[in-house]
Amino acid sequence: MHAMVLDKPKTPLEWRDVPDPVPGPGQIRIRVHACGVCRTDLHIVDGELPDPKLPLIPGHQIVGTVDRTGEGVVTVAVGDRVGVPWLGWTCGECRFCRSGRENLCDRARFTGFHIDGGYAELAVADARYCFPVPEGYPDDQAAPLLCAGLIGFRAYGMTGDAHRLGFYGFGAAAHVLIQVARHEGREVYAFTRPGDTASQVFARSLGAVWAGGTGERPAELDAAIIFAPAGELVPAALAAMAKGGTVVCAGIHMSDIPSFPYDILWGERSVRSVANLTRADGEAFLALAPKVPIRTEITRYPLQAANDALADLRGGKLQGAAVLIPPGMTD
Ligand SMILES: [Zn+2]
Ligand SMILES: [Zn+2]
Repeated sequence: MHAMVLDKPKTPLEWRDVPDPVPGPGQIRIRVHACGVCRTDLHIVDGELPDPKLPLIPGHQIVGTVDRTGEGVVTVAVGDRVGVPWLGWTCGECRFCRSGRENLCDRARFTGFHIDGGYAELAVADARYCFPVPEGYPDDQAAPLLCAGLIGFRAYGMTGDAHRLGFYGFGAAAHVLIQVARHEGREVYAFTRPGDTASQVFARSLGAVWAGGTGERPAELDAAIIFAPAGELVPAALAAMAKGGTVVCAGIHMSDIPSFPYDILWGERSVRSVANLTRADGEAFLALAPKVPIRTEITRYPLQAANDALADLRGGKLQGAAVLIPPGMTD
């Protein structure tokens, strides 16, 4: 098969012929129809996340059809459409797994990081961690639901019943979550890089009650989610928070958070992170998506152009989500 391969961080991915992967016991092989590009992929390629498998095929928002099953797989069959998320395997034994927090598993393995992912024509995954993809979504539009949507939804859950919700960074995740927030009658305030009027227009078109630069203070917020990897947004968001408000950091990597005066945390404000996903998060989110219904804005790139997609994400040039399409997949 063909794949885009990372040999070492801080170098471009290479288009290469590699052996077809073979599913082991409990695994399925998927013919990839579409694979979303996530900011986490960028952090891996840029060397900001330590110790990826190398060489590595990135990609953890995979949509495709099962073309082969390994021994003992009974829950999915050849021809089924499935989605493969970031959470690729957990131990089932550690105290986190045993307390409903498999997202925090000490030995968790992640797709496109510890396990080869979906920047390829074929991918192998543990059948227990794959999801059925909701009907009605073309493959390419479904791909961003699997991380931007899903882990974003976990972060959204941490905001409780906040009415005025700030989104810092308006990319793939925010454009999905604003649809859920509006469906639930909340107000979304979209904070973008100062001067990024294209993203502000995009946010307003999706129903943001306000959109502007990260330094602005349009209203006292009940909660905020920080999607952008910039630590200086933490004190900025805290300063915009009402008493009792929560600032949720949704990314896997962030630059250092500058020190800040205690009085912006005082008043029972809190700062927390969200890590990974559980299978229960995935089931809940994918059941909700068609009811909203969530629509994703995507930009398609041929799989061979993965480096261009990553460069556009790095440069803030995308509205919505980038999705890679392997050769011959026209849907
Ligand atoms: Zn575990
Ligand atoms: Zn992701």
